[in-house]
Amino acid sequence: MDVQSVRGFVGTKLSFADASPDVGLRKSEAMDPEALIHLVSASGLRGRGGAGFPTGMKWKFARAEVRSPKYIICNADEGEPGTFKDRLILTDFADLVFAGMAIAGRAVGAEKGILYLRGEYEWLHAHLEGVLARRRNDGLLGAAVLGNRNFAFDIEIRIGAGAYICGEETALIESLEGKRGEARNRVPFPVQSGYLGLPTVVNNVETFAWVPCVVEKGAEWFSAMGTRKSPGARLFSVSGACDKAGIYEYPFGTPLRRLLKEVGGEDAKAVQVGGASGVCVPAAQFDRTLAFEDLATGGSIIVFGPQQDMFAVAENFQHFFAEESCGQCAPCRFGNVRLHEAILRMREEGLDADTEASLRSLAATMQAASKCGLGQSAPNAFLSILDNFAGELPRPRT
Ligand code: SF4
Repeated sequence: MDVQSVRGFVGTKLSFADASPDVGLRKSEAMDPEALIHLVSASGLRGRGGAGFPTGMKWKFARAEVRSPKYIICNADEGEPGTFKDRLILTDFADLVFAGMAIAGRAVGAEKGILYLRGEYEWLHAHLEGVLARRRNDGLLGAAVLGNRNFAFDIEIRIGAGAYICGEETALIESLEGKRGEARNRVPFPVQSGYLGLPTVVNNVETFAWVPCVVEKGAEWFSAMGTRKSPGARLFSVSGACDKAGIYEYPFGTPLRRLLKEVGGEDAKAVQVGGASGVCVPAAQFDRTLAFEDLATGGSIIVFGPQQDMFAVAENFQHFFAEESCGQCAPCRFGNVRLHEAILRMREEGLDADTEASLRSLAATMQAASKCGLGQSAPNAFLSILDNFAGELPRPRT
């Protein structure tokens, strides 16, 4: 597939377009690793994969580990329904991602990076290998990055096999080790015992892409955008019932209503924020903001128009989770199938109070007792649709 043809519509000016990937890398080479970690911490950069863990803190934990070698893994398993912004970053800004991985390696003391590429993005492989080859040739990767014999770092690309669960970092690591993609128990965390049981930093594509920008322009430049709890800006993949689907950059704290206006989705009935594992926001709540402290998201925004059958949405997502559950733990393995069956039934028969209470109890058990984020977040969309659109169900038969 032609890399040029899949960029898609970019609706706002991206900060990445003004960044110089290797200015940040050169600055990082001149810095003490602790000062580098302090800079990233001071910027407030949080992981863009969805969970929002502070990037500098993750690097600090990894640096503190005495065992080596250490690894830097870029999670490019972009599989959340409705998310496609990492595809654009890998297509147009791969140098930023690779520079960010090298900076992370310098910060934590790792010499090896692995980019885990979503199986469905295999067509990007040749393009990414080309960028890596050029960077090696330019002395930006290899045994002596920028000529510094104390700064060795190189990157390998591995391809996933299309399993949604492998977007979860511990399942991704299992997959890299050649095993079935299943989530691991935590503790230990990957920074303590990750790839091959060694200290490993896993960050998302977009997180790494912001790193050289932060090092180049400074922590204050970054933290001046966004909110106190969610500094900076992020990319959003916008799809569904709107005039200008595409990729947009907004600072955290942007109201959902503003985004809808700019993408031509003002008449939306609801918006799914965060993909299948996110929440469904009804029109009455469009003044809520896109931020970790309000509507957290890994970047997926799906707009539903006025005619959308919301329980068809819930049915679709629950079927997706029933298919994608890795099956290790019972709350997720059984819970998703039971919720999917219940949605099919309630669309025919309506929902009585006892059944609703029992489904809410099942959903709460899944959120509390599932082993990983897939099962814990799987009932979110169903619950938010039930909370806001129960009036669309037929009345129960008496
Ligand atoms: Fe597997 Fe689901 Fe349990 Fe995660 S929550 S370990 S995906 S069965």
